[in-house]
Amino acid sequence: MKIDWNRRTCARRGHITYLPDEEHLRAKLHAGTALGTAWRCLRCGDFVLGEPHGSGPAAEAPLVPRGKVLRDLFLLRFLAVERAVRGVFIVLAAIAVWQFSNSQDAVRQFFDKNLDVVRPVAAHFHYDLDHSPVVDTIRKTFGYQHSTLMLVAGALLLYALVEIVEGVGLWRAKRWAEYLTVVATAAFLPLEIYELTEKVSWLKIATLVVNILAVLYIAVAKRLFGLRGGRAAFEEERQSASLLEVETSAGVPAAAHNG
Ligand SMILES: [Zn+2]
Repeated sequence: MKIDWNRRTCARRGHITYLPDEEHLRAKLHAGTALGTAWRCLRCGDFVLGEPHGSGPAAEAPLVPRGKVLRDLFLLRFLAVERAVRGVFIVLAAIAVWQFSNSQDAVRQFFDKNLDVVRPVAAHFHYDLDHSPVVDTIRKTFGYQHSTLMLVAGALLLYALVEIVEGVGLWRAKRWAEYLTVVATAAFLPLEIYELTEKVSWLKIATLVVNILAVLYIAVAKRLFGLRGGRAAFEEERQSASLLEVETSAGVPAAAHNG
């Protein structure tokens, strides 16, 4: 099944029409109908009844993403939502770890209080609880775990922040966000693979597959790191997909175009 991204987007957000100053372009985009004047949508190419939404030189017409460019925008927004949702869940996990580290404190106090109760009894049997290796180990474990948990909570928060920044940037189609996503996601791939060697779960496998595909897809589709001509080629692709751009080059005589 082939999705018509242009019509799909127009159905959701409405058509975009434009009145160019250039006479020959105007003729191509305009039609007089029995129901009144109609203008060709810059996205889907359908003629839409009513006055144009904007006007001016063709060069200043809104750059309307179409076709493949539109599909890429849609997929990146899907990734953006996935990142943001994951970010929120990681924040929740960080809060949970932080709260647990605090309750660890309560557990330790509970332990110490009970130790006070038991101490006289132990002393009666000539057992020095405070220098018992078992009690010592438990105390150490509490202290160690608290700082570790705080560290884990901090690391999780940092990770969540990266995910949320990626989400916001991808949603707004920022190129830096695409770089950040590719670099940060690729950096975590070894860890994800290592995790799989420890314990296999479907969620882990799915996450790994999504992340590998995301890295490849963004890098190739958005021509990052100079791939497939890099940024210049990407901008050119975006421009040439614009309907007004297509009409402009079509309006230029073939000789001038080739020469
Ligand atoms: Zn349209």
